[in-house]
Amino acid sequence: MTQRPLPGAGLLLTVTGRCPLHCAHCSTSATMASGEPDAARLRSFVGTFTPAAHPSVLMMTGGEPLLRPELVTELAATARAAGTRTALLTGAFFAGRADRPGHPGQVAAVPERIWRAVTAVDHFSVSVDAYHERETGRAPVFALVRRVLDAGVAASFHLVGSGADDPYLADVTADIRRTFGSRVPMLVNSLRRVGRAASWAAADTASPDPERALPCSMAAWPVVAADGTVVACCNQAVVDRRPAPAHLTLGHIGTDDWESISARAVRSPVLRMIRTVGPAHLRHRYGAADEAAPRPGYCDGCRALAERPEVLAAATAAGAGPVGALLDRYAARGQAEAGAVALVRRHGCAPYADLVALHGAAR
Ligand code: SF4
Repeated sequence: MTQRPLPGAGLLLTVTGRCPLHCAHCSTSATMASGEPDAARLRSFVGTFTPAAHPSVLMMTGGEPLLRPELVTELAATARAAGTRTALLTGAFFAGRADRPGHPGQVAAVPERIWRAVTAVDHFSVSVDAYHERETGRAPVFALVRRVLDAGVAASFHLVGSGADDPYLADVTADIRRTFGSRVPMLVNSLRRVGRAASWAAADTASPDPERALPCSMAAWPVVAADGTVVACCNQAVVDRRPAPAHLTLGHIGTDDWESISARAVRSPVLRMIRTVGPAHLRHRYGAADEAAPRPGYCDGCRALAERPEVLAAATAAGAGPVGALLDRYAARGQAEAGAVALVRRHGCAPYADLVALHGAAR
């Protein structure tokens, strides 16, 4: 998390868009009919990591990445050979069933091919929330995490609740602390109105103050989407909708290697400015005045920059060259030095931000 604001320090990779679970809040609306990147192209793209040019962190996600366990194992080994540390985010569909809950001390029986993938990565993260619990239950997932820790792999929980006051979050975070002490960090987010939650979750109507610089740290790590397109951020609409806005598109795993993708992410003048002052400030500063129009949300306004050529042209001029590079580095360094807790306070569920900094030792 401390590297999250650093441009090109990490890569988020969709191993598959498919998932066997049916969580009501799924941000990607994943089903077993969803698309997935070609395995050979994924191997080949990760194979372009070299000791001289590689992301520090590769986060494999989905859908459910452990539907392709052999591929996860292989990608983890390839990435590690180049010097990249690997992490995996799963819904743990294999851990158990909510209607057959087991008990917290029970060691999960994990299929061997999946276990090889779980222990091939440096960090194992599992999603736990009220919606996942209806599918997998809590006790089987806790048993799985206990086994992962015993195998020497660091682990963390990704939690989602309706907001800071959600009693579910208070309950599950206390349960995790009781069960694991400070061994397992937690990344706590608030539910967003995307994917399957688009029709029922509360809308985020917050509109940022455009006078203020509000940098977007999420534009720092490239994201490989299920169709192999590489986009500049993890906003789900950018990852899922096609065509992706040109200013947020970095390339495709079928035609580009890591070095060219990371160079585009680092050198794009528009991305530099999004990371430095944020999209709302860019619109306010460089956009043609349109007092009558409602002010868009943070990410909505960023995606809609595709229709504001005057803003993109000004951002390109401001973010190009050594001055743009310096501004970008300065903003990234400031956010990295502020640390993971400050980052989660801004982008996650603020009252639970401290939990991301729990010690997290594997044993
Ligand atoms: S849409 Fe723009 S503001 Fe939102 S996460 Fe992506 S780059 Fe950042």
